[in-house]
Amino acid sequence: MNAAEPTTTAPALSLPALAVTCPACGSKPGELCTSHSGTRPRRNDVHRARTTAHNTPTT
Ligand SMILES: [Zn+2]
Repeated sequence: MNAAEPTTTAPALSLPALAVTCPACGSKPGELCTSHSGTRPRRNDVHRARTTAHNTPTT
């Protein structure tokens, strides 16, 4: 079921928002966001909510 292409080459891995858990899809820090109920990794970007969460202090 895995895609042939390794996720290590995903452009989204360079986004700073990967440092936080995504509130939209639940991806953990360091993991790509997923779409379609988690069946497809978002290799080129992350959810907007994740970027917002990264830019918003939680304390
Ligand atoms: Zn997400």
